[in-house]
Amino acid sequence: MKYYSTNKQSEPVSFTAATIKGQAPDKGLYFPEYIPQVDRDLIEHIDQFSNEEIAYRVIQPYVGDEIPEAVLRKIVSETVHFPIPLVPVNERISALELFHGPTLAFKDIGARFMSRCLAAALAGQSALSGRATVTVLVATSGDTGGAVANGFYGVEGVEVVILYPSGKVSPVQEKQLTTLGGNIHALEVLGTFDDCQAMVKAAFADPELTSQRFLTSANSINVARWLPQQFYYFFAYKQWKDKNNPPVISVPSGNFGNICAGILAMQSGLPVGHFIAACNVNDIVSEYLETQELKPKKAVATLSNAMDVGNPSNFVRILEIFQHRFPELKSRLSSYTITDRETEDTIREVREKYQYLADPHGAVGFLALERYLQEHREQKGIFLETAHPVKFPEAVERITGEQVAVPETVREIMNREKKSKIIAPEYDQLKSYLLQ
Ligand SMILES: *Cc1c(COP(=O)(O)O)cnc(C)c1O
Repeated sequence: MKYYSTNKQSEPVSFTAATIKGQAPDKGLYFPEYIPQVDRDLIEHIDQFSNEEIAYRVIQPYVGDEIPEAVLRKIVSETVHFPIPLVPVNERISALELFHGPTLAFKDIGARFMSRCLAAALAGQSALSGRATVTVLVATSGDTGGAVANGFYGVEGVEVVILYPSGKVSPVQEKQLTTLGGNIHALEVLGTFDDCQAMVKAAFADPELTSQRFLTSANSINVARWLPQQFYYFFAYKQWKDKNNPPVISVPSGNFGNICAGILAMQSGLPVGHFIAACNVNDIVSEYLETQELKPKKAVATLSNAMDVGNPSNFVRILEIFQHRFPELKSRLSSYTITDRETEDTIREVREKYQYLADPHGAVGFLALERYLQEHREQKGIFLETAHPVKFPEAVERITGEQVAVPETVREIMNREKKSKIIAPEYDQLKSYLLQ
């Protein structure tokens, strides 16, 4: 399998090359040359397959022989080693809980898979060129950093440098970034998330630095982070009772990597009734579906902050899946815009009516799904619960008036010692750190 750039100005590359590069040199996103079809047998008898086997069969065509079978099977089983249950909330709506991984967010799946693929790719490369280590450089506003830190912890040949804005991530998130040590280095920037992102961009654009350090990023445009997100859509279908009436799936969306992986799974043969992009007031895609024009905006801060994205980078891949045919896209995808007020009301109502505690992102997914189902009485659906409510304790406790039960893993991490290096929001400080 080769990957071409959506900007079509760079050469197609292999899976491992795309994993190492992240983004194509022409600033496009890598996209598979064709969409492989899963075996009918896998779909028809899906409950007889283990999650490891399903995941392996789904990803294998995308990797080809770039990673040996035994290694890929090990990577896959380490990626999906925690539960991903489908939990009924009411008669028509279930939650697919993606927050049982080590950092309590769905990004664990992509980060774990990518880190191990990168290690495998580097092992192959260093045999050829002798270049042994890469530095993964990420700026985070919260969730990405924790998942990346955890996913890459202890991975050979990889050093991880995470920039986060001092005082602007939640206490749980900060501990997830700063307590691992080893090959994970946290830089606490006395500035904003935008400062962090600008510093990272400056690093990638600095030839003096990149000639001395091999830098890569771990954001969701990397194919090795994007593609494994298909796995849990198959796991959802495995647990879905009414196979004759496939689920409508509502995905809380920001950069649109998650939902794009779901749509890819559908195009490769997974039965799905319809997709819903559940958005907060950052409504670029809702508008696109109305007007056929994609107009990036400045992001607005909301309760569901992991979805505060004004220019969703993965949307171009959705266009690519549908080969830019708007009517086809519109027949498979709807979008709803949910305000913070509606998100709060939903968290409260779902708790009171169904005894289910949703986090702000999941609540956006729930309400968007409910709206769609009101118009489609014969269908039922699933919303993705993308983070554990304990990651947003202030909002959830204020809204429901109850304390969120803290999982054991979080209690343990809160007792560990924070280790970060404080730096000013200036590129030179990052540069000298990276060169030291
Ligand atoms: C990252 C994130 C999202 C958005 O996912 P995208 O793939 O960027 O659309 C939603 N919810 C949570 C909790 C997240 O961390």
